[in-house]
Amino acid sequence: MPPITVITGGSRGIGRATALLLAKEGHKVAIVYKSRQAEAAQVLAEIEAMGGTAIALQADIADEAQVVALFAQIDAQLGRVTGLVNNAGILKTQAGLQELTAARIQQVFNTNVVGAFVCAREAAQRMAFKHGGAGGGIVNVSSVAARLGAAHEYVDYAASKGALDTMTRGLAVELAAEGIRVNTVRPGFIYTDMHADGGEPNRVERIKTSLPMQRGGTAAEVAEAIAWLLSDKSSYVTGSFIEAAGGR
Ligand code: NAD
Repeated sequence: MPPITVITGGSRGIGRATALLLAKEGHKVAIVYKSRQAEAAQVLAEIEAMGGTAIALQADIADEAQVVALFAQIDAQLGRVTGLVNNAGILKTQAGLQELTAARIQQVFNTNVVGAFVCAREAAQRMAFKHGGAGGGIVNVSSVAARLGAAHEYVDYAASKGALDTMTRGLAVELAAEGIRVNTVRPGFIYTDMHADGGEPNRVERIKTSLPMQRGGTAAEVAEAIAWLLSDKSSYVTGSFIEAAGGR
């Protein structure tokens, strides 16, 4: 049976690269996107062109009811999931502490933490041995910001990724006996649209000479780490962290 893997935020950036790589490796993939349907359709078309199987579904992962409905749709259209990439995330740059409002912090946490938790719950419900599942894998896409703190720029985002890292540690233990491995990939600076959405389109280009490898990373380089953690090659790896951050 081919693995069936859900990728939140699979329409672009790191999620898109992961969807393409997993499809190439034989996964049936469910691409979840919040907006910009055309981008999701493009990924779908690329996967179908290479002979893979994929569906694209719109949902706001910050909305619990939408996530519950989303996983029911995936059950019906692809079957019982065996993998989840908690990739969807948002960042707003240039907010020092005095600029932070409760509403903004909640917006970031609702997607980056609460959404990831609810997706993990729905996926684990389908993967766990005790519920008749075959086990599986969850990869949380965090950030090196969780370790560095992102002072003066996006401390709220960094704190949300710190919470996600703690979730990895806890769920890895809670779900181990259910055949579910839970791991984290922490990207460094990656060339994607997230920086544009956050308010600075050329951010990676601007800071690249301050990075150890003198360049940002590509989404495809991060996808390799995610795919490895979802594969049988990492069968004894759980509760772990891989940094795809060029030494940052
Ligand atoms: P991106 O902005 O290019 O893509 C984000 C994706 O998440 C999009 O598909 C978007 O539709 C989706 N998304 C956002 N909010 C959503 C919601 N509420 N519900 C459903 N989907 C939602 O970003 P990216 O750079 O590819 O980032 C992917 C992940 O990697 C994020 O979790 C991000 O925090 C993390 N990350 C990125 C970088 C970087 O430099 N790009 C660095 C460290 C960590």
